[in-house]
Amino acid sequence: MALPLPTSLSPSKVASFKDCALAFRFSNIDRLPESPSPAATRGTLVHRALELLFCEPAPTRTLPTALACLDQARAEMATDSEFLGLDLDAEASARFAAEAEGLIRSYFRLEDPTTVHPIGLELRLQVEVGSLMLRGIIDRLELDADGGLVVTDYKSGRTPGVMHEQSRLGGVHFYAFLCERVLGRRPSRIQLLYLSEPVAIVAAPSAQSMRGLEQRTTAIWKAVERACANDDFRPRPSPLCNWCSFQDYCPTFGGDPGRARELVSAG
Ligand code: SF4
Repeated sequence: MALPLPTSLSPSKVASFKDCALAFRFSNIDRLPESPSPAATRGTLVHRALELLFCEPAPTRTLPTALACLDQARAEMATDSEFLGLDLDAEASARFAAEAEGLIRSYFRLEDPTTVHPIGLELRLQVEVGSLMLRGIIDRLELDADGGLVVTDYKSGRTPGVMHEQSRLGGVHFYAFLCERVLGRRPSRIQLLYLSEPVAIVAAPSAQSMRGLEQRTTAIWKAVERACANDDFRPRPSPLCNWCSFQDYCPTFGGDPGRARELVSAG
């Protein structure tokens, strides 16, 4: 039986389909709930703290202000279901807070936020390409000294090895493509800020890289359409399985994907 198509593609959905088609199906078509993880929730917290920091006037974007923004973000998150779902005890909670603070302190070794000129924070953009809707949320869009657009994406996880840098830039190339289509200007720079090391990975989008992005994304969409038409989403075991919420339904772990469909029908 053919499965319904997802309504859109985003950088995270593209990455998810490439990592494991079956996990993509469980998340984006069956819409099974995923267990919250401390790492992902810490990332959400730090993103919010940096968003609040860039709402402040440029000269006041100091480390003490950033730590106050982190406190505000933690207060906002205290009642959030994602955070409550972690069920942290006092020790784990203190570790969670200390690690988030460490990322904020580390961020200040990457750039001086008083010199950044943001024009969009958590900016939602979408564009239609043929029958496909592309969507993305840009962490920070700013102007450089020459008036060029810069797309910045914060990363709270581990910095990729040199071999994987280009593939990790795929998400920000996607954002650059959205900017070009929606705002009519191709960004002059895209950058991933890995907060934990800290390391910045920077690239300049070109007409060729934008064409390549469009071709790769269209090819992935065709693969998703085929998989939906044939109900053929295959598991792709990898180290990512250790963090996958869907092991109970995955044949790799003795599960039955049909149970996921039953849950969806019952829900
Ligand atoms: S457990 Fe691994 S193979 Fe199975 S769905 Fe999850 S990521 Fe894919």
